[in-house]
Amino acid sequence: MGVTVVGSVGLDSVETPYGKAELELGGAAVYFSLSASFFTDVNLIGVVGEDFPEIFINILQSREINLEGLQRLPGRTFRWRGRYHKDMNNRDTLDTQLNVFENFKPIISATASLEPYLFLANIHPALQLDVLKHTYPNFIGMDTMNLWINTTPDLLQEVLSRVNMLFINDSEAKELSGENNIKKASLSILASGPEALIVKKGEHGCILFLDDGDHFALPAFLLEDVIDPTGAGDSFAGGVMGYVAYRDRYDVQTLKEALVVGTVMASFACESFGPNKLINISMADIRDRCEKFIQQTQLESYPLLPENDK
Ligand code: AMP
Repeated sequence: MGVTVVGSVGLDSVETPYGKAELELGGAAVYFSLSASFFTDVNLIGVVGEDFPEIFINILQSREINLEGLQRLPGRTFRWRGRYHKDMNNRDTLDTQLNVFENFKPIISATASLEPYLFLANIHPALQLDVLKHTYPNFIGMDTMNLWINTTPDLLQEVLSRVNMLFINDSEAKELSGENNIKKASLSILASGPEALIVKKGEHGCILFLDDGDHFALPAFLLEDVIDPTGAGDSFAGGVMGYVAYRDRYDVQTLKEALVVGTVMASFACESFGPNKLINISMADIRDRCEKFIQQTQLESYPLLPENDK
């Protein structure tokens, strides 16, 4: 069972308290694909320009990502430049150059369109709807950002009504719903379509909300050195969707397990500039970190409370 992802492929320039990187391999679809590729077949749908280095194509191919849907067009590749604050939970976007991504028209092969799992990364909701017209998945995940919440709310609602799971960060969930409390915000979003919602809270972890009102929370995997958090959210989504596709099921227990995998994949993404750490790990590293994380988050006993009221 494989997953198709549609989103940005780009060249990122990033500054963090640990240093800087220029024109690194980046883009939401790249981080998602690299992360998901540890668990399942991945079809990447995106666009690059003439300046996109062949070595980055080789990296994606080394993870056996299907690049039939990656167009190369005349012009420059999408570029993003960001600078992280000292507390790394906050960053400023210094520059976004859409370049060939501006008029992106996804080309979806038969293989990609028939894949049972689909992830709509952060792109214009009109494009997300267009992709939905040309694909036949059983389970759809999506991401979005405040730009689309503010500029195209109606189109975004239409996409939301057609997906199974939304990945969103906590401030965006509040903005999208108009609610200040995260539980109320989540229930309101779930009422508009998806059966599940994953609220990402950066270094504070994530919460899975379900449409029956239930929720399940996990902390982040604590790292001593967060070198560059760029792509953590997309690597998280790649881990979640990749695991769900690998298990080929999306019941509540599987979604909770997928959250562990997503958390672990996001932690690897933070340990280097660009996706360099992500591409140099093995399943043994992933398994090891999943085990550590479960030990850190699991109680072996219930609190032994006094029998009677005091
Ligand atoms: P994350 O840190 O998970 O939010 O993902 C950051 C990635 O998203 C970077 O690799 C950027 O290239 C990419 N990105 C940044 N801004 C945009 C945008 N407006 N549209 C699509 N992708 C973007």
